[in-house]
Amino acid sequence: MNLEKLICSKSATIKDVMMCINENAKGAAFIVDEAVRLVGIMTDGDIRRLLIDGYGLNDFIEEHIQSDFVYAKVNEEPENIAKKFNHRIRIIPIINESRQLVDYSEFDENIHLSLASPYLNGNEYKYLMDAFLSTWISSTGKYITKFEENFAEYCGVKYGVATANGTVALHLALIALGIGAGDEVIVPDLTFAATINAVIYTGATPVIVDIEEDSWCIDPDEIEKAITPRTKAIIPVHVYGQPCDMDRICEIAKGHDIYIVEDCAEAHGAEWRSKKVGSFGIISCFSFFGNKVITTGEGGICVTNSKELYEKMRILRDHGMSRERKYYHEVIGYNYRMTNLQAAIGVAQIERVDDILMWRAKLENQYRNAFSNIKGIRLQRNDLSNRKKIAWLVSILVDENKRDEVLIELKNNGIDTRAFFIPLSEMDLYKKYDRGCCRSHQISKMGLNLPTTFEVDLDGIEKIISLIASII
Ligand SMILES: *Cc1c(COP(=O)(O)O)cnc(C)c1O
Repeated sequence: MNLEKLICSKSATIKDVMMCINENAKGAAFIVDEAVRLVGIMTDGDIRRLLIDGYGLNDFIEEHIQSDFVYAKVNEEPENIAKKFNHRIRIIPIINESRQLVDYSEFDENIHLSLASPYLNGNEYKYLMDAFLSTWISSTGKYITKFEENFAEYCGVKYGVATANGTVALHLALIALGIGAGDEVIVPDLTFAATINAVIYTGATPVIVDIEEDSWCIDPDEIEKAITPRTKAIIPVHVYGQPCDMDRICEIAKGHDIYIVEDCAEAHGAEWRSKKVGSFGIISCFSFFGNKVITTGEGGICVTNSKELYEKMRILRDHGMSRERKYYHEVIGYNYRMTNLQAAIGVAQIERVDDILMWRAKLENQYRNAFSNIKGIRLQRNDLSNRKKIAWLVSILVDENKRDEVLIELKNNGIDTRAFFIPLSEMDLYKKYDRGCCRSHQISKMGLNLPTTFEVDLDGIEKIISLIASII
């Protein structure tokens, strides 16, 4: 709105201010002197109180202007200004160094879009209450078995071992394979740090390799170059819902007799050549953290076709205790169990996973259509051969070093976004494991995840696009 419509002179009458507020419909007027210096704010309520006190419409406001009011300075950080809003203060004048009114900022309650939120309106509550009322709230109970069976079946794999979270699922998989000190495990540079941390827990040495430019997934050529006699495993990460090139990776693994442990934490339901991710690795790991495709609050799972590894993981998950002889420990194990409460939510989530993936895909398509004629923005590729990606977080690349500006502008407008993962090789902690990555640095700098929740509708997308377009 034009700033003029919000301004009243300090020599105005009560009626003038009422007319101003009536016309601007913002509930307030900014009062200025002859040099447009801000002297106060008058609200609906101030006027009402003057009338109650017996003043008339033609009385002047000058003596009644409140001198303490909330304002902002023109170079103030938007985040700072945002903090000044509350349930009463919805509009804030902005002044320059000479106290002149130059702009205003307004609270917009219509937009607050979070990055991700769980979708819990199926049987989640019912099963959770059922588990709760059964008093089987710890790590034994019917939902755990059900969750393991149903999720393994969903992936097209025989066995599932549910865990406390996705990170320990990765660790459990690696130790079940006997990976430890002296071994090397190849990981991609663009991933969440849990992937590499799990390797480090085992005592093995992670080897960080670069990603493919188009898929952002681990580059098979780089895997090949990184293999040594000590290489024991590769952890392909299906990053942001995009499946890795599993033909090449399986071929390399077979040729060198090394394991594949898939990190599917961001790609439930994604497919390579119509086969679900999670069905390629000797063991594959998923996360059910609150922002993942489906969730159990915190949670994870290892899936495998190997009965032997399945048994081994169950023992390692449960303190290394013998399954025949209670309190007899065969190996140094861990407590990596999932609770029946988490599993109850998970069972309900699996019932709806296809629906959830469908609305995610629909939302991503809406973004894709809306972005199709915006130059300088590229969405994550969905046209790569053999790959059926799923929409975890809608991911875009912003050209010309404008990513951070876009991120801040969206944040200031109540729209939550995330910059891509920082490449592992860029962090002091992991630098020493780097094999010379560069594409990951390029992609990471440009990458942004956009809100991928039910709150996002076409209006929300429009708003996001107009904010981005204003910058690039
Ligand atoms: C989320 C995530 C994990 C870890 O899962 P948690 O359940 O949070 O421990 C591991 N790898 C990747 C790629 C992830 O995105």
